[in-house]
Amino acid sequence: MATQADAQELAALRALSARIGSNPHLTQAAGGNTSLKAGDTLWIKASGTWLKDALSDDIMVPVAMVPLIEAVERRDPAADKPQAFAIGALNPRGLRPSIETTVHALMPQRVVLHVHCVDTISLAVQADCEIKAARRLEGVEWAYVPYRRPGLPLAQGIAERLRPGVDVLILGNHGLVVAAETVTDAERLLHRVRSLLARTARTAANAD
Ligand SMILES: [Zn+2]
Repeated sequence: MATQADAQELAALRALSARIGSNPHLTQAAGGNTSLKAGDTLWIKASGTWLKDALSDDIMVPVAMVPLIEAVERRDPAADKPQAFAIGALNPRGLRPSIETTVHALMPQRVVLHVHCVDTISLAVQADCEIKAARRLEGVEWAYVPYRRPGLPLAQGIAERLRPGVDVLILGNHGLVVAAETVTDAERLLHRVRSLLARTARTAANAD
């Protein structure tokens, strides 16, 4: 950890991760991941760990962000193996960073949350997702990223769609990314976007 402020924010992120991981509308099993940038180090949820365990287990792994972003820019297949960028000295348990690490590294904001939010996915599986989402996300700086396999292809898809100021990504057929400078703001944005995207439950006809 670079500073005490980073350590405090990482503790806040672990608490938020546990809350997100305990909500089946946001994450299922080992899905979803959260991250914090501390200087040039990206702390991200390790592959195979569960967000709901963020307070009881060591689930965050440090990654050297600059060489990872350079690998994405070079389209180097090394970017598909983020474990090569894990910082060994700070990773005594040998945790492996998520294949979705590049999603987090590409967002410039300090805190990034990626969830397989049911309300988002119910929209993100539709062919006209981008049009429908645009109607609901008025006032939000967001971008739509068509489906790509997680890893280098998804990272390239995001790089193509990212504009300055964008802090929300809808990943086609996949899920949601929100980003902010603080854990508090990231959580607020997550719930704002989720409620904007939530579909109104259809009124069921009375049973005969
Ligand atoms: Zn995902």
